[in-house]
Amino acid sequence: MKPFAYERALDRAAAIAALAARPNAVFLGGGTNLVDLMKLGVATPDLLVDVARLPHDRVEPLPGGGVRIGAAVRNSDLAADRTIRRAYPALSQALLAGASGQLRNLATVGGNLMQRTRCVYFQDVTKPCNKREPGTGCPARLGHHRDLAILGASEACIATHPSDMAVALAALDAVVHVEGPDGARAVPVVDFHRLPADDPSRDTVLEHAELIVAVELPALPLAARSHYRKVRDRASYAFALVSLASAIEVADGVVSDVRLAFGGVAHRPWRAWRAEAALRRSRATEEAFRHAADVELAGANPLPGNAFKVPLARNLLVRALLDQVEAGGR
Ligand SMILES: Cc1cc2nc3c(=O)[nH]c(=O)nc-3n(C[C@H](O)[C@H](O)[C@H](O)COP(=O)(O)OP(=O)(O)OC[C@H]3O[C@@H](n4cnc5c(N)ncnc54)[C@H](O)[C@@H]3O)c2cc1C
Ligand code: SF4
Repeated sequence: MKPFAYERALDRAAAIAALAARPNAVFLGGGTNLVDLMKLGVATPDLLVDVARLPHDRVEPLPGGGVRIGAAVRNSDLAADRTIRRAYPALSQALLAGASGQLRNLATVGGNLMQRTRCVYFQDVTKPCNKREPGTGCPARLGHHRDLAILGASEACIATHPSDMAVALAALDAVVHVEGPDGARAVPVVDFHRLPADDPSRDTVLEHAELIVAVELPALPLAARSHYRKVRDRASYAFALVSLASAIEVADGVVSDVRLAFGGVAHRPWRAWRAEAALRRSRATEEAFRHAADVELAGANPLPGNAFKVPLARNLLVRALLDQVEAGGR
Protein backbone atom coordinates (compact mmCIF):
# COMPACT_ATOMS: atom_id res chain seq x y z
CA MET A 1 0.00 0.00 0.00
CA LYS A 2 1.26 3.50 -0.81
CA PRO A 3 2.41 5.35 2.35
CA PHE A 4 -0.04 8.00 3.58
CA ALA A 5 -0.44 10.47 6.44
CA TYR A 6 -3.32 10.37 8.93
CA GLU A 7 -4.98 13.25 10.79
CA ARG A 8 -7.94 13.28 13.12
CA ALA A 9 -10.04 16.38 12.47
CA LEU A 10 -11.00 18.34 15.59
CA ASP A 11 -13.97 20.05 13.96
CA ARG A 12 -15.61 20.27 10.57
CA ALA A 13 -13.83 23.52 9.58
CA ALA A 14 -10.45 21.91 10.23
CA ALA A 15 -11.46 18.82 8.24
CA ILE A 16 -12.54 20.91 5.25
CA ALA A 17 -9.43 23.12 5.43
CA ALA A 18 -7.14 20.06 5.58
CA LEU A 19 -8.63 18.69 2.36
CA ALA A 20 -8.78 22.06 0.63
CA ALA A 21 -5.01 22.40 1.11
CA ARG A 22 -4.20 18.97 -0.38
CA PRO A 23 -5.66 17.83 -3.73
CA ASN A 24 -4.85 14.18 -2.99
CA ALA A 25 -6.28 14.10 0.56
CA VAL A 26 -9.57 12.32 1.37
CA PHE A 27 -11.98 12.04 4.29
CA LEU A 28 -11.98 8.80 6.26
CA GLY A 29 -15.23 7.46 7.74
CA GLY A 30 -15.28 3.93 9.13
CA GLY A 31 -12.71 2.95 6.48
CA THR A 32 -14.63 -0.18 5.43
CA ASN A 33 -14.56 0.74 1.74
CA LEU A 34 -11.73 3.24 1.45
CA VAL A 35 -9.10 1.11 3.20
CA ASP A 36 -9.99 -1.92 1.04
CA LEU A 37 -9.54 0.22 -2.09
CA MET A 38 -6.20 1.50 -0.76
CA LYS A 39 -5.01 -2.08 -0.20
CA LEU A 40 -5.99 -2.91 -3.79
CA GLY A 41 -4.15 0.16 -5.11
CA VAL A 42 -7.40 1.61 -6.49
CA ALA A 43 -7.33 4.58 -4.09
CA THR A 44 -3.94 6.20 -3.49
CA PRO A 45 -4.48 9.23 -1.21
CA ASP A 46 -1.51 10.82 0.50
CA LEU A 47 -3.52 12.07 3.51
CA LEU A 48 -6.54 10.62 5.34
CA VAL A 49 -8.55 13.11 7.41
CA ASP A 50 -10.59 11.15 9.92
CA VAL A 51 -14.12 12.57 10.21
CA ALA A 52 -15.73 9.58 11.92
CA ARG A 53 -15.29 11.15 15.35
CA LEU A 54 -16.69 14.58 14.53
CA PRO A 55 -19.76 15.40 16.63
CA HIS A 56 -22.18 14.55 13.76
CA ASP A 57 -23.21 11.38 15.51
CA ARG A 58 -26.84 12.01 16.43
CA VAL A 59 -30.28 11.30 15.02
CA GLU A 60 -32.32 14.36 16.01
CA PRO A 61 -35.92 15.44 15.39
CA LEU A 62 -36.39 18.51 13.17
CA PRO A 63 -38.62 21.34 14.43
CA GLY A 64 -41.17 20.96 11.60
CA GLY A 65 -41.15 17.14 11.73
CA GLY A 66 -38.67 14.84 10.05
CA VAL A 67 -35.21 13.91 11.32
CA ARG A 68 -31.62 15.04 10.89
CA ILE A 69 -29.09 12.20 10.75
CA GLY A 70 -25.46 13.15 11.42
CA ALA A 71 -22.98 11.95 8.81
CA ALA A 72 -20.91 10.15 11.45
CA VAL A 73 -23.82 8.06 12.76
CA ARG A 74 -22.81 4.41 12.42
CA ASN A 75 -24.98 2.21 10.20
CA SER A 76 -25.85 -0.11 13.13
CA ASP A 77 -26.96 2.79 15.32
CA LEU A 78 -29.11 4.26 12.56
CA ALA A 79 -30.77 0.92 11.83
CA ALA A 80 -31.58 0.49 15.54
CA ASP A 81 -32.81 4.03 16.15
CA ARG A 82 -36.40 3.98 17.45
CA THR A 83 -37.59 6.93 15.38
CA ILE A 84 -36.12 5.49 12.21
CA ARG A 85 -37.66 2.08 12.86
CA ARG A 86 -41.09 3.60 13.55
CA ALA A 87 -41.26 6.45 11.02
CA TYR A 88 -38.91 5.25 8.23
CA PRO A 89 -38.75 1.43 8.47
CA ALA A 90 -37.45 1.02 4.89
CA LEU A 91 -34.27 2.82 5.95
CA SER A 92 -33.68 0.54 8.91
CA GLN A 93 -34.42 -2.54 6.77
CA ALA A 94 -32.08 -1.35 3.99
CA LEU A 95 -29.23 -0.85 6.45
CA LEU A 96 -29.75 -4.26 8.01
CA ALA A 97 -29.78 -5.85 4.53
CA GLY A 98 -26.27 -4.51 3.87
CA ALA A 99 -22.81 -5.86 4.71
CA SER A 100 -22.41 -7.59 8.11
CA GLY A 101 -22.90 -6.64 11.75
CA GLN A 102 -19.21 -5.89 12.20
CA LEU A 103 -19.07 -3.70 9.07
CA ARG A 104 -22.24 -1.83 10.03
CA ASN A 105 -20.74 -1.08 13.45
CA LEU A 106 -17.94 0.83 11.71
CA ALA A 107 -19.59 2.22 8.58
CA THR A 108 -20.86 5.80 8.72
CA VAL A 109 -23.74 7.48 6.91
CA GLY A 110 -21.34 9.76 4.97
CA GLY A 111 -19.09 6.87 3.97
CA ASN A 112 -22.02 4.69 2.97
CA LEU A 113 -23.30 7.34 0.54
CA MET A 114 -19.79 7.72 -0.92
CA GLN A 115 -18.88 4.01 -1.25
CA ARG A 116 -17.68 3.06 -4.70
CA THR A 117 -18.92 0.53 -7.24
CA ARG A 118 -18.20 -3.17 -6.83
CA CYS A 119 -17.54 -3.64 -10.57
CA VAL A 120 -14.74 -6.24 -10.66
CA TYR A 121 -12.72 -4.33 -13.27
CA PHE A 122 -12.81 -1.15 -11.20
CA GLN A 123 -11.30 -3.07 -8.29
CA ASP A 124 -8.55 -4.70 -10.37
CA VAL A 125 -5.73 -2.30 -11.25
CA THR A 126 -4.37 -4.69 -13.89
CA LYS A 127 -7.53 -4.09 -16.00
CA PRO A 128 -8.63 -1.03 -17.97
CA CYS A 129 -11.57 0.90 -16.49
CA ASN A 130 -12.94 4.33 -17.46
CA LYS A 131 -14.04 5.01 -13.90
CA ARG A 132 -10.62 4.34 -12.36
CA GLU A 133 -8.51 5.58 -15.30
CA PRO A 134 -10.54 7.74 -17.68
CA GLY A 135 -10.07 6.90 -21.33
CA THR A 136 -8.84 3.33 -20.85
CA GLY A 137 -12.12 1.63 -21.80
CA CYS A 138 -14.88 -0.43 -20.22
CA PRO A 139 -14.18 -4.17 -20.34
CA ALA A 140 -17.43 -4.91 -18.47
CA ARG A 141 -19.55 -4.41 -21.59
CA LEU A 142 -18.09 -7.50 -23.28
CA GLY A 143 -16.99 -9.15 -20.06
CA HIS A 144 -18.54 -9.75 -16.65
CA HIS A 145 -21.57 -7.51 -16.19
CA ARG A 146 -24.09 -9.71 -14.43
CA ASP A 147 -24.25 -7.30 -11.45
CA LEU A 148 -24.17 -4.12 -13.49
CA ALA A 149 -26.62 -1.50 -14.76
CA ILE A 150 -29.71 -1.86 -16.92
CA LEU A 151 -30.86 1.78 -16.57
CA GLY A 152 -29.09 5.11 -17.10
CA ALA A 153 -25.77 3.56 -18.20
CA SER A 154 -23.52 4.96 -20.93
CA GLU A 155 -21.04 3.61 -23.48
CA ALA A 156 -18.31 4.69 -21.06
CA CYS A 157 -19.56 2.85 -17.94
CA ILE A 158 -22.29 0.44 -16.83
CA ALA A 159 -21.41 0.33 -13.12
CA THR A 160 -24.02 0.19 -10.36
CA HIS A 161 -24.01 2.05 -7.07
CA PRO A 162 -23.86 -0.55 -4.29
CA SER A 163 -25.47 1.22 -1.31
CA ASP A 164 -28.71 -0.19 0.10
CA MET A 165 -29.12 2.75 2.47
CA ALA A 166 -29.07 5.26 -0.38
CA VAL A 167 -31.97 3.48 -2.12
CA ALA A 168 -34.22 3.91 0.91
CA LEU A 169 -33.11 7.53 1.28
CA ALA A 170 -33.93 8.17 -2.39
CA ALA A 171 -37.45 6.77 -2.01
CA LEU A 172 -38.04 8.80 1.17
CA ASP A 173 -37.11 12.20 -0.31
CA ALA A 174 -33.96 12.63 1.81
CA VAL A 175 -31.65 15.61 1.39
CA VAL A 176 -27.84 15.54 1.85
CA HIS A 177 -26.29 18.52 3.66
CA VAL A 178 -22.70 19.31 2.76
CA GLU A 179 -20.19 21.96 3.76
CA GLY A 180 -17.11 22.98 1.84
CA PRO A 181 -14.61 25.78 1.32
CA ASP A 182 -17.33 27.81 -0.47
CA GLY A 183 -20.02 27.30 2.20
CA ALA A 184 -22.95 24.96 2.78
CA ARG A 185 -25.44 23.48 0.36
CA ALA A 186 -28.24 20.93 0.35
CA VAL A 187 -28.63 18.31 -2.38
CA PRO A 188 -31.60 15.93 -2.69
CA VAL A 189 -30.32 12.33 -2.51
CA VAL A 190 -31.86 11.66 -5.94
CA ASP A 191 -29.49 14.29 -7.41
CA PHE A 192 -26.45 13.44 -5.26
CA HIS A 193 -25.14 10.48 -7.30
CA ARG A 194 -24.41 11.07 -10.99
CA LEU A 195 -25.20 9.00 -14.05
CA PRO A 196 -21.93 8.04 -15.80
CA ALA A 197 -22.44 9.78 -19.18
CA ASP A 198 -18.94 10.43 -20.59
CA ASP A 199 -17.28 10.99 -17.16
CA PRO A 200 -17.79 7.93 -14.96
CA SER A 201 -14.82 8.89 -12.78
CA ARG A 202 -17.13 11.13 -10.73
CA ASP A 203 -19.71 9.18 -8.74
CA THR A 204 -21.40 12.16 -7.08
CA VAL A 205 -21.85 15.92 -7.42
CA LEU A 206 -19.59 16.49 -4.38
CA GLU A 207 -16.54 18.70 -5.04
CA HIS A 208 -13.13 18.07 -3.49
CA ALA A 209 -13.09 19.12 0.23
CA GLU A 210 -16.88 19.13 0.52
CA LEU A 211 -17.86 17.25 3.66
CA ILE A 212 -21.19 15.49 4.15
CA VAL A 213 -22.40 16.69 7.55
CA ALA A 214 -25.95 15.29 7.69
CA VAL A 215 -28.86 13.76 5.86
CA GLU A 216 -32.36 15.05 6.53
CA LEU A 217 -35.57 13.10 6.09
CA PRO A 218 -38.77 15.11 5.74
CA ALA A 219 -41.92 14.40 7.74
CA LEU A 220 -43.64 11.91 5.43
CA PRO A 221 -46.57 9.98 6.93
CA LEU A 222 -46.38 7.48 4.07
CA ALA A 223 -42.81 6.61 5.11
CA ALA A 224 -44.09 4.87 8.25
CA ARG A 225 -45.47 2.21 5.88
CA SER A 226 -42.29 1.93 3.80
CA HIS A 227 -40.49 -1.30 3.10
CA TYR A 228 -37.16 -2.47 1.64
CA ARG A 229 -36.75 -5.73 -0.25
CA LYS A 230 -33.43 -6.98 -1.63
CA VAL A 231 -32.82 -9.79 -4.11
CA ARG A 232 -29.29 -11.18 -3.95
CA ASP A 233 -27.30 -14.34 -4.51
CA ARG A 234 -27.03 -15.19 -0.79
CA ALA A 235 -29.31 -14.37 2.10
CA SER A 236 -26.64 -12.21 3.74
CA TYR A 237 -23.31 -10.56 3.02
CA ALA A 238 -24.10 -9.95 -0.65
CA PHE A 239 -24.83 -6.86 -2.69
CA ALA A 240 -28.21 -6.39 -4.36
CA LEU A 241 -28.90 -7.82 -7.79
CA VAL A 242 -32.06 -5.73 -7.63
CA SER A 243 -33.63 -4.09 -4.59
CA LEU A 244 -36.66 -1.89 -4.03
CA ALA A 245 -37.63 0.66 -1.40
CA SER A 246 -41.36 1.21 -1.58
CA ALA A 247 -44.27 2.85 0.21
CA ILE A 248 -47.87 2.94 -0.97
CA GLU A 249 -51.05 4.50 0.33
CA VAL A 250 -54.38 3.20 -0.91
CA ALA A 251 -57.80 4.78 -0.29
CA ASP A 252 -60.96 3.02 -1.48
CA GLY A 253 -58.93 0.74 -3.72
CA VAL A 254 -57.15 3.66 -5.42
CA VAL A 255 -53.47 4.58 -5.04
CA SER A 256 -53.37 8.00 -3.38
CA ASP A 257 -49.60 8.18 -2.91
CA VAL A 258 -46.56 6.05 -3.66
CA ARG A 259 -42.75 6.15 -3.41
CA LEU A 260 -40.49 3.73 -5.31
CA ALA A 261 -36.71 3.48 -5.73
CA PHE A 262 -34.68 0.60 -7.18
CA GLY A 263 -31.15 -0.42 -6.19
CA GLY A 264 -28.70 -2.57 -8.14
CA VAL A 265 -29.89 -1.32 -11.52
CA ALA A 266 -28.05 1.96 -12.15
CA HIS A 267 -25.09 4.21 -11.38
CA ARG A 268 -27.27 5.78 -8.69
CA PRO A 269 -30.29 4.81 -6.62
CA TRP A 270 -33.03 4.76 -9.25
CA ARG A 271 -36.11 6.69 -8.20
CA ALA A 272 -38.92 5.20 -10.28
CA TRP A 273 -40.63 8.49 -11.11
CA ARG A 274 -42.42 7.10 -14.18
CA ALA A 275 -43.84 4.14 -12.29
CA GLU A 276 -44.99 6.45 -9.48
CA ALA A 277 -46.74 8.74 -11.97
CA ALA A 278 -48.42 5.77 -13.65
CA LEU A 279 -49.67 4.50 -10.29
CA ARG A 280 -51.07 7.68 -8.72
CA ARG A 281 -54.89 7.64 -8.90
CA SER A 282 -54.90 4.18 -10.55
CA ARG A 283 -56.60 1.11 -9.04
CA ALA A 284 -54.31 -0.76 -6.65
CA THR A 285 -54.30 -3.98 -8.68
CA GLU A 286 -51.66 -6.41 -9.86
CA GLU A 287 -52.36 -5.32 -13.42
CA ALA A 288 -51.71 -1.65 -12.55
CA PHE A 289 -48.52 -2.55 -10.69
CA ARG A 290 -47.28 -4.58 -13.67
CA HIS A 291 -48.11 -1.72 -16.04
CA ALA A 292 -46.23 0.77 -13.83
CA ALA A 293 -43.17 -1.50 -13.75
CA ASP A 294 -43.29 -1.84 -17.54
CA VAL A 295 -43.50 1.94 -17.94
CA GLU A 296 -40.40 2.39 -15.77
CA LEU A 297 -38.45 -0.44 -17.34
CA ALA A 298 -39.25 0.58 -20.92
CA GLY A 299 -36.03 2.62 -20.72
CA ALA A 300 -33.92 -0.39 -19.69
CA ASN A 301 -30.97 -1.22 -21.91
CA PRO A 302 -29.64 -4.52 -20.59
CA LEU A 303 -26.70 -6.58 -21.86
CA PRO A 304 -26.83 -10.36 -22.40
CA GLY A 305 -25.44 -11.14 -18.94
CA ASN A 306 -27.81 -8.94 -16.96
CA ALA A 307 -31.03 -9.06 -19.03
CA PHE A 308 -32.52 -11.18 -16.23
CA LYS A 309 -32.65 -8.01 -14.11
CA VAL A 310 -35.53 -6.58 -16.17
CA PRO A 311 -38.10 -9.27 -15.28
CA LEU A 312 -36.56 -9.47 -11.80
CA ALA A 313 -37.15 -5.75 -11.21
CA ARG A 314 -40.68 -6.00 -12.61
CA ASN A 315 -41.59 -8.96 -10.43
CA LEU A 316 -40.01 -7.35 -7.38
CA LEU A 317 -42.07 -4.20 -7.79
CA VAL A 318 -45.31 -6.11 -8.32
CA ARG A 319 -44.73 -8.53 -5.43
CA ALA A 320 -43.64 -5.79 -3.01
CA LEU A 321 -46.67 -3.59 -3.72
CA LEU A 322 -49.12 -6.49 -3.61
CA ASP A 323 -47.73 -7.54 -0.24
CA GLN A 324 -47.88 -3.98 1.09
CA VAL A 325 -51.47 -3.47 -0.04
CA GLU A 326 -52.44 -6.82 1.46
CA ALA A 327 -50.82 -5.79 4.74
CA GLY A 328 -52.84 -2.58 4.76
CA GLY A 329 -50.49 -0.28 2.93
CA ARG A 330 -47.43 -1.42 4.83
C1 LIG B 1 -17.61 -7.42 2.60
C2 LIG B 1 -18.46 -6.20 2.43
C3 LIG B 1 -19.79 -6.34 2.14
C4 LIG B 1 -20.60 -5.21 2.00
N1 LIG B 1 -21.94 -5.36 1.70
C5 LIG B 1 -22.71 -4.25 1.53
C6 LIG B 1 -24.08 -4.34 1.17
O1 LIG B 1 -24.62 -5.44 1.02
N2 LIG B 1 -24.79 -3.20 1.01
C7 LIG B 1 -24.23 -1.97 1.18
O2 LIG B 1 -24.92 -0.97 1.04
N3 LIG B 1 -22.94 -1.84 1.50
C8 LIG B 1 -22.17 -2.96 1.67
N4 LIG B 1 -20.85 -2.82 1.97
C9 LIG B 1 -20.25 -1.48 1.92
C10 LIG B 1 -20.34 -0.73 3.22
O3 LIG B 1 -21.67 -0.37 3.46
C11 LIG B 1 -19.45 0.49 3.04
O4 LIG B 1 -18.11 0.03 3.03
C12 LIG B 1 -19.63 1.50 4.15
O5 LIG B 1 -20.96 1.95 4.21
C13 LIG B 1 -18.71 2.69 3.92
O6 LIG B 1 -18.78 3.54 5.05
P1 LIG B 1 -17.44 3.98 5.80
O7 LIG B 1 -17.84 4.96 6.84
O8 LIG B 1 -16.66 2.80 6.25
O9 LIG B 1 -16.72 4.72 4.60
P2 LIG B 1 -15.15 4.87 4.24
O10 LIG B 1 -14.64 3.57 3.72
O11 LIG B 1 -14.44 5.47 5.42
O12 LIG B 1 -15.24 5.95 3.11
C14 LIG B 1 -15.88 5.69 1.90
C15 LIG B 1 -15.80 6.96 1.06
O13 LIG B 1 -16.57 7.99 1.67
C16 LIG B 1 -15.80 9.17 1.82
N5 LIG B 1 -16.33 9.81 3.02
C17 LIG B 1 -16.45 9.27 4.25
N6 LIG B 1 -17.09 10.12 5.09
C18 LIG B 1 -17.38 11.23 4.36
C19 LIG B 1 -18.05 12.46 4.63
N7 LIG B 1 -18.57 12.72 5.83
N8 LIG B 1 -18.17 13.37 3.64
C20 LIG B 1 -17.65 13.14 2.41
N9 LIG B 1 -17.01 11.98 2.09
C21 LIG B 1 -16.90 11.04 3.04
C22 LIG B 1 -14.37 8.67 1.91
O14 LIG B 1 -13.43 9.67 1.52
C23 LIG B 1 -14.40 7.51 0.93
O15 LIG B 1 -14.24 8.01 -0.39
C24 LIG B 1 -20.04 -3.93 2.16
C25 LIG B 1 -18.68 -3.78 2.48
C26 LIG B 1 -17.88 -4.92 2.60
C27 LIG B 1 -16.44 -4.72 2.94
S1 SF4 C 1 -18.54 -0.62 -15.83
FE1 SF4 C 1 -17.58 1.30 -15.18
S2 SF4 C 1 -16.46 0.66 -13.35
FE2 SF4 C 1 -16.85 -1.21 -14.54
S3 SF4 C 1 -15.13 -1.49 -15.99
FE3 SF4 C 1 -16.68 -0.29 -17.04
S4 SF4 C 1 -15.99 1.82 -16.65
FE4 SF4 C 1 -15.02 0.58 -15.11
